[in-house]
Amino acid sequence: MTKSLFIPGPVDVLPEVAARMSSPMIGHRGKEFSELLEDVTGKMKRLMLTENLVFISTSSSTGLMEAAIRNCVKTRCLNVGIGAFSDRWYDITAGNGKNAEFLSVEWGDAMNREVLDGIDEKLSGGEYDAITVVHNETSTGVTNPLEEIAEVVKKHDVSLLVDCVSSMGGIKVDVDKWGIDVALFGVQKAMGLPPGLAVCSVSEEAMEKSKNVSNRGYYFDFQVFKKYLDKKQTPATPTIPHMFALDYQLDRILEQEGLENRFKRHEKLGEITRQWVKRMGFELFPREKEYCSDTVTCVSNTLGIDCNELKSKLADRGYVFANGYGRLANKTFRIAHMADRQPGELRAYLETIEDILGI
Ligand code: PLP
Repeated sequence: MTKSLFIPGPVDVLPEVAARMSSPMIGHRGKEFSELLEDVTGKMKRLMLTENLVFISTSSSTGLMEAAIRNCVKTRCLNVGIGAFSDRWYDITAGNGKNAEFLSVEWGDAMNREVLDGIDEKLSGGEYDAITVVHNETSTGVTNPLEEIAEVVKKHDVSLLVDCVSSMGGIKVDVDKWGIDVALFGVQKAMGLPPGLAVCSVSEEAMEKSKNVSNRGYYFDFQVFKKYLDKKQTPATPTIPHMFALDYQLDRILEQEGLENRFKRHEKLGEITRQWVKRMGFELFPREKEYCSDTVTCVSNTLGIDCNELKSKLADRGYVFANGYGRLANKTFRIAHMADRQPGELRAYLETIEDILGI
């Protein structure tokens, strides 16, 4: 049985999008590919609201997190963790031999005003090359106030490296207006494609800085990406099937649905889910409601339901359920509502949970 994915990525892929992946293959050093790359990056700039360079990477998002660190951190980086994925930035920074400083925010909280004031003070010492943050923390269902974060960071000569993995394509990220140096994401979440391709935008300042950072490697070196992009190519053989599908999906998003409508649909999906959580008697895991994500809801299991039993019963009904992430398993569970998910499909899923639980 094909199951509907209510996990926060990978997500269900529309059949017409998936079909593009079996387009006849082309070579990656030919004219047709150059045209495809130009089309995809041009449309991607419209989606990301940026004039910065946009690089296509045949990797998952974690690869581009690695790239951001290797290119933008010469010696020292501040990693702000609000959950499992933002915490990962620290491991990547330390793992690349950089001086990583971890600033831990309690899971369920966002980088609110108080946290930002502390960061402002820290950055004013001038010790850091970069700061890493997550926009939408998939493990806790918290959306960080990225515009406010950027305002603080931009007061200092520090690169702002942002994981937009579960927000881009579902929640607005205004890369240029906010001044984000590196914004990265994979396509298997709010973009609605199968996993395997990641994208990042890189500011001029970050490109300049990276020239003076040693040991950038090769596969994830922004300078190498740029050298090839100037020739309308990628450095290594890319996942061309994804690029066909992405080109098509970008048309759907930009021309058919419209970017603003897409964000509004996600807001509605978030609202439907949050109301359901309240009505059922559960609680939302994010402590401050204004930071609840519109792509994934993290629910505190205040009713003490058996998440594993629910998962297996939902599987029998054709759904894939998401338990809480890592140490939050069973204490929380998650409901993803992103990409091309429609309100009616979400309601049907929530009703099925209700039916199973008999609440
Ligand atoms: N960052 C966030 C916010 C995520 O949700 C994920 C995956 O779920 C990642 C990073 C890692 O992405 P990947 O496993 O595709 O490298």
